[in-house]
Amino acid sequence: MEKRDYYEVLSISRTASEDEIKKAYRLLALKYHPDRNPGNPEAENKFKEAAEAYEVLKDPQKRGQYDQFGHAGLGQGAGFEGYGFGGFDLGDALRAFMRDFGGFGFEDVFGGRGNSRANNRGQDLQIKLKLTLEEVASGVTKKLRVRRLATCKECSGYGSAPGSSKKTCPQCKGGGQVRHITQSLFGQMVSVTTCRDCGGTGHIITAPCPACHGEGRTREETTINVDIPAGVSAGNYIPIERKGDSGRQGGLPGDLMVVIDEEEHDIFTRQDNHIICQVPVSFVTAALGGTIEIPVLGGTDTLDIPSGTQTGKVFRLPGKGIPYLRRRGHGDQLIQIHVWTPKKLSDEEKKLLKRLGESESFTPPKASKSFFEKLRETLGV
Ligand SMILES: [Zn+2]
Ligand SMILES: [Zn+2]
Repeated sequence: MEKRDYYEVLSISRTASEDEIKKAYRLLALKYHPDRNPGNPEAENKFKEAAEAYEVLKDPQKRGQYDQFGHAGLGQGAGFEGYGFGGFDLGDALRAFMRDFGGFGFEDVFGGRGNSRANNRGQDLQIKLKLTLEEVASGVTKKLRVRRLATCKECSGYGSAPGSSKKTCPQCKGGGQVRHITQSLFGQMVSVTTCRDCGGTGHIITAPCPACHGEGRTREETTINVDIPAGVSAGNYIPIERKGDSGRQGGLPGDLMVVIDEEEHDIFTRQDNHIICQVPVSFVTAALGGTIEIPVLGGTDTLDIPSGTQTGKVFRLPGKGIPYLRRRGHGDQLIQIHVWTPKKLSDEEKKLLKRLGESESFTPPKASKSFFEKLRETLGV
């Protein structure tokens, strides 16, 4: 699908202030929020589009890049941190919305009528998950142990002792919210707050459930399977809906966010989707050329090097790196040669080397560009 201009998406001018951007986004997000437009894919697309536009335009640096280069300025690596590439999916958009307008339920953001399930929404939980580079490269299913507040089994989350009844909260008449009217210099002000008497549930428990003391939820440790796609990076996260803490007294559960972290690898360094390693080679092989053993992800392979290979020389194996998360293909593997100098030599070996050293072909050239420079050139950084 052709991407629309972000300013057009938010219906604002190219000189709009931060405040105008925020207001425009908030209006659209509330209008097209999936909670208000269930089963409406067009609204969902508009919601995602608005979130993506806002994500870019609210950030002066990204906005600058976008102003200068358009969508291309925000391509790979340009800073959709935590969102991968190629735009927002619905999870991203919901998350961005929640983050910018607080960690509460939609009804609260909207300030609308009471909804006890949304008022009592449970907390989102975050879990850090460390992956090896091999797991990142192949994708993996992980079992996570999660400590969360789960719906109480005794009372099914209602918080009432079995057989007892609840009564409607007299303070809020069951709405869960109370309106306060105050007179101010600017006229009458109406504010809506969560009812304190019932905590927003709209009812009062007469006999609390003994298992959860009326909370409707109890602590449990549970195992959750998460599928991690290949190509994730540290800082990416995977939202698992409704696996956070259960809400109080039957409130909606929060979400569980699995935040990806990477373990340091013994051999490889990752740069974007490329993997880099250094391989020591004897100077005999470096001088004569030959086949060397090299590490690859999950094993070893061989590489032919030509005669006269210098320390610092980088060989590129296209497509042997980490797969891209949101597009086809893999990064490359880069192998930097390090010509290894022997440390312990016998008298006989020393004699041989001395003789070789006298030959003109063993005299190195004068100064040259540093090996680091060469590596930088090869990597294009
Ligand atoms: Zn209970
Ligand atoms: Zn109440």
